[in-house]
Amino acid sequence: MRSWSVHVGRLFGVEVRLHLTFLVLPLFVVWTEYNANHPANGPRDIALAGIVLGCVAAHEIGHMFVARSFGLIPKAVILLPLGGVTVFDESRLEKPESVEAAWRREVRIALTGPLVNLVFALVAAGVIVLAGVGAHLREWPFLQSSNLPRSLVWANLYIAGLNLLPAYPLDGGRILRAFFARSIDPAAATRRAVSISHALAMVLMVAGLFSNTWLTMVGLIIFSAAQLEERAVIFQSVLDNVRLEEVMLTDFATLSPADTLEDALDKAVHSLQDDFPVVRGSDMVGVISRQSILEALRLEGNGYVQAVMNKLFEVSARQESLASAFRKLTSRNLSIIPVVEDQRLVGIVTLQNLMHSMALLAESRKLRRDESNS
Ligand SMILES: [Zn+2]
Repeated sequence: MRSWSVHVGRLFGVEVRLHLTFLVLPLFVVWTEYNANHPANGPRDIALAGIVLGCVAAHEIGHMFVARSFGLIPKAVILLPLGGVTVFDESRLEKPESVEAAWRREVRIALTGPLVNLVFALVAAGVIVLAGVGAHLREWPFLQSSNLPRSLVWANLYIAGLNLLPAYPLDGGRILRAFFARSIDPAAATRRAVSISHALAMVLMVAGLFSNTWLTMVGLIIFSAAQLEERAVIFQSVLDNVRLEEVMLTDFATLSPADTLEDALDKAVHSLQDDFPVVRGSDMVGVISRQSILEALRLEGNGYVQAVMNKLFEVSARQESLASAFRKLTSRNLSIIPVVEDQRLVGIVTLQNLMHSMALLAESRKLRRDESNS
């Protein structure tokens, strides 16, 4: 999900990433202006791209504020030239909500973005008319770097209009997906919305070849945004639906608190594990990492595992979801979670092993789905 975007900073505590399609926007503006026989003007072209970026950011901030009022805290927002994709952490919703409540929430969050742009366009147009700037608001082309005030009005109108297209993950498409989700399960609703979105993107891309190249650009952006979102949904459904017993390591080495650090290091060398459960008899008493064994040996010489092991750890049950294990690992900065059943250690889950299995599971689900689609 991160491969096509770059980190640009934080806004209200939310990570902001710029999608790579944004970086080609100034070039695209120069190119279309050149084709339209307007002399390209570097600073003004960049200013036009900046206006688009500003309108998109205002749009996303609108979404974020409404989402927050519903208790949804955005994890990251990826800005695309038409709008953004806000990645929410739905697992942190305070209480499970009804289908109807989710539908109302989605519609409200989705409509706020375009509404912000409409308000901005109206205010900008009002100011331009009152100030008598002479921006010729209704003159073609609406977006042009030689007339930045007019571009500001139209960039907002375009962004509002485009986002209402039923092309997931644009806002219109989100409303469509929420509508599907009233009758089918969320992952299937997303897939249906993504297929409609892909079809629409194709139509725009082809239509753009025969009319306005901007349409092709819009189609391309919708296509990549839908792809982005689909991957995030697959990832989330793997997290929610896979139980720890399906991915935990059952063949692992343990240490005893009475082992010396040198013995422990010797065991660590012969295993692929980075982290070890420490077991006395059949009781879990701690966890220790290869790193801390090495550090203790280096700083204090040989000693016992007992003295170095971490006694504060979290255990999980077999039936817990990956999402829950993942939260435990990341929120407490742990690197291993012992899986226990009736107080007995039956497996371990490590960050390294989770990353690995999630990638594999997402791949195999995608394969299975492609098979069922063909
Ligand atoms: Zn939006």
